[in-house]
Amino acid sequence: TKDEEILLFRPDQNMKRFNKSNLRLVMPQFDEEFALHALKKLIEIDRDWVPNHPGTSLYIRPFMIATEAHLGVDPAKNYKFMIILSPVGSYYKEGINPVKIAVENKYVRAVSGGTGDAKTAGNYAASLLASEIAGENGYSQVLWLDGRERQYIEEVGSMNIFFKINGEVVTPELNGSILDGITRKSIIELLKHWNIPVTERRISIHEIQEAYNEGILEEVFGTGTAAVISPVGELFYNNEKLTINNGETGALSKKLYDTITGIQNGTKEDVFGWTVKL
Ligand SMILES: *Cc1c(COP(=O)(O)O)cnc(C)c1O
Repeated sequence: TKDEEILLFRPDQNMKRFNKSNLRLVMPQFDEEFALHALKKLIEIDRDWVPNHPGTSLYIRPFMIATEAHLGVDPAKNYKFMIILSPVGSYYKEGINPVKIAVENKYVRAVSGGTGDAKTAGNYAASLLASEIAGENGYSQVLWLDGRERQYIEEVGSMNIFFKINGEVVTPELNGSILDGITRKSIIELLKHWNIPVTERRISIHEIQEAYNEGILEEVFGTGTAAVISPVGELFYNNEKLTINNGETGALSKKLYDTITGIQNGTKEDVFGWTVKL
């Protein structure tokens, strides 16, 4: 903050999701309160690394790996819990720039019953090839469809996705194959607080095409810790380009971005109690 204080954004929620992911992967549960205590101690020691220019932050990545010297397909007996800290520059150097996203209909990232709702590196491994191919075609990320019917929208590589259609905000429901994003959850809470209609439900790519053709697809944006809000200026699906809001950042996307980053850097009141002072 401008008063040189350090604020953490919803660390309790991150620790909770970490333990939930561990359950799915047969990795041990850890004491969330102790982990948070250790995290705060670490940041205290490294506090000179916390950058203070507008838009910058200290990226915090707690993670766990198996460390035992053993080959075999079974849960390990020894693990290491570590926390990486890294100062990061502004995600948006020249203001928020909408991204172009390709809708993926060949590869899938996760299926219901799999590990899609755990935050685990394996999910990224499954996603890299499609991202590479999309990148070669000028798209920065892919939008995943469900693994069974390839028609219901899931999420973007490392972000959840929201659509504003005719004044209503919709986002795919937590169906077991998408990640329970903490930014996603925060956006839903904010929209409800502002009395903007928001619904979590199944959304097909055809419904998005129809809304686009009717001219009522107003905004599309991704949400995640690193970018907070990432407006989508173009979706590419089955050789069709859907240009959203003239490829510009929508008013709601901007307002959500300003509000969440404002709460994070202490310039906006934290009415939800999301931040934790070091
Ligand atoms: C981390 C991640 C997100 C975003 O979650 P946040 O808690 O908002 O950072 C969304 N999808 C995937 C696949 C992720 O790994």
